Amino acid sequence: VRYSEGRGWHDARITARKPFPIDPAAAVLHYGQEVFEGMKAYRLESGGIATFRPEENARRFQASAARMAMAALPQDIFMTAVDELVRIDRDWVPTGEGKSLYLRPFMIATEVFLGVKPASEYLFMVIACPVAGYFGSGCVSVWVSDAYTRAAPGGTGAAKCGGNYAASLIAQRDSQTHGCDQVLFLDSREQRYVEEMGGMNVMFLRDDNTLVTPPLTGTILPGITRDAILRLARDQGLTVEEAPVAIDEVFEGAATGRYREAFACGTAAVISPIGSFRRTQGEAVFGDGKTPGPVTLALKKTLTDIQAGRTNDPHGWVHMIG
Ligand code: PMP
Repeated sequence: VRYSEGRGWHDARITARKPFPIDPAAAVLHYGQEVFEGMKAYRLESGGIATFRPEENARRFQASAARMAMAALPQDIFMTAVDELVRIDRDWVPTGEGKSLYLRPFMIATEVFLGVKPASEYLFMVIACPVAGYFGSGCVSVWVSDAYTRAAPGGTGAAKCGGNYAASLIAQRDSQTHGCDQVLFLDSREQRYVEEMGGMNVMFLRDDNTLVTPPLTGTILPGITRDAILRLARDQGLTVEEAPVAIDEVFEGAATGRYREAFACGTAAVISPIGSFRRTQGEAVFGDGKTPGPVTLALKKTLTDIQAGRTNDPHGWVHMIG
């Protein structure tokens, strides 16, 4: 679907994926005016196909676009585009635990100019790709980045825009150099508080049965999985806190047992148990570093059962594709 000022949204079509022409002076190629979403279509036990809370993706897409000074894509265009694509690609939705059709809606600035200003022409597209689970069934290890932060107050941390990821690739590479699977970012002011990981939010379980996760203060992405887990945790009688988490407290707490479990959450990761955090000065290990904690596993089961249609859906999150 294309947008231009005056004409509005037009030219909707579904085609086989193929390269498309773009002018070398298109704004996106120089200034990164681009936003995207990540979602999954699941094959349910019943044989039907569904997405998970797609209205939330549509809403966040609009918020990201607003932050990047881009035109707002109406929610019904977003929803129709995703539903239609999944309907046409229904045979590509894989069967099997953890498997899904990953969906990538995105919008780029296609207007041609070289000055620095918001564009007035955009192209919105959705691509689809079958995927297996992001991580295996064990625990992930996480490198705490002390060299780079992901987002500053007033920046674009709360938006899902390509530039955030471009800026964090080097930290992701650092994490691999240190033998870890993922990177954890700290706040940019004091490098003291946990923010989020390269492509997922992070949560901790304390010994008082409180699930704690950093608050949405504008520098982390408001994860849709994060929101779902906070609600499911409340349903299950856990105390839930959105509060700053100091990294030193996590390292001390892992040693004393105050912090019992940690996990990453997001569309790709769903819920991925964290076995250990490493940083320049040492390591924080949960349990034996390999065995997922029981509360993490229980939350994962509840969430994946809802997503796969194995249990009832008390919050109305499963969106059937007709
Ligand atoms: N933080 C970042 C930086 C992400 O890229 C993602 C994935 N979209 C998340 C958190 C988790 O968000 P969601 O649960 O909506 O996928």
